[in-house]
Amino acid sequence: MENNARIYVAGHRGLVGSAILRALEKKGYRNLIYRSSSELDLRERDQVQSFFEEQEIDYVFLAAAKVGGIAANNDFPADFIRDNLLIQTNVIDSAYRTGVKNLMFLGSTCIYPKFAPQPLKEEYLLTGDLEPTNKPYAIAKIAGINMCQSYNRQYGTKFISVMPTNMYGPNDNFDLKTSHVLPALIRKFHEAKEANAQSVEVWGTGQPKREFLHSDDLAEACLFLMEHYEDSEIINVGVGEDIAIRDLAELIKSIVGYQGEISFNSSIPDGTPRKLVDVSKINALGWQARISLEEGLKSAYVAFQKEYLINK
Ligand code: GDP
Repeated sequence: MENNARIYVAGHRGLVGSAILRALEKKGYRNLIYRSSSELDLRERDQVQSFFEEQEIDYVFLAAAKVGGIAANNDFPADFIRDNLLIQTNVIDSAYRTGVKNLMFLGSTCIYPKFAPQPLKEEYLLTGDLEPTNKPYAIAKIAGINMCQSYNRQYGTKFISVMPTNMYGPNDNFDLKTSHVLPALIRKFHEAKEANAQSVEVWGTGQPKREFLHSDDLAEACLFLMEHYEDSEIINVGVGEDIAIRDLAELIKSIVGYQGEISFNSSIPDGTPRKLVDVSKINALGWQARISLEEGLKSAYVAFQKEYLINK
């Protein structure tokens, strides 16, 4: 990407988009374009098309999406499939129509089959049934991947699709009803410590395993791939290591400094047993994650205290 390129970050207020924007600013890019959802509703085709026509955009990071944890996906399946299909269709199509040079579509590891072998290699896409709790979201993301591939094939565009593992970092969602496990546990342990509560409830059995990537690492990977990756096939981004939810809870408990007990509520679903990504493809290109989980959690706890508690 040239220094003066016009770069649009869709979803710049979210966990991923805000990290990409920070990374671009740090690298000295000055023509950065972003809009809040009240300024530009990406679900509205006409608004998106006019925006692209006016802005003469060169590169797009498509990090705008309706996202949420296991409970939100389960409770609002229609919103997850509709909003994501609309957002990505409008942005990808307008990018093509206005001659964008390159677009990066951000997906998720929930696109892989529920019982795929671990670690998840890129070629396991569409080889088995999906996890039911987030199937509508996953199907929207799979449609986005195929849309990028189909546009590349038919129209000669250069759209790439990147599959990050579970992420965390600044601007995370700490709403316990809709958040993912890591921010939820930071908040739960912090509030339990403040209230001197006897125990903290962790959902499910604690046995599922998840991999966690800091959003600053992901942002570095996205900039790296925009420069070094041109293939239509998807590419994973992760750390290559996972942790059981039970151990994650212990780690967060000690970082927050909570002294009470942990209880597991196994009436709440576990979701996919494991989703560790195979990172050999991106590693072979020369990129590797740098932020350890412990270091990342410590900074995420500081960010939580700044962002969340101040706005409370
Ligand atoms: P997933 O990766 O799509 O399953 O989404 P989540 O991050 O929401 O959940 C990951 C795992 O953490 C699941 O097994 C959840 O049941 C478990 N979990 C434990 N406690 C919590 C919690 O307080 N909030 C959430 N969202 N998940 C939790």
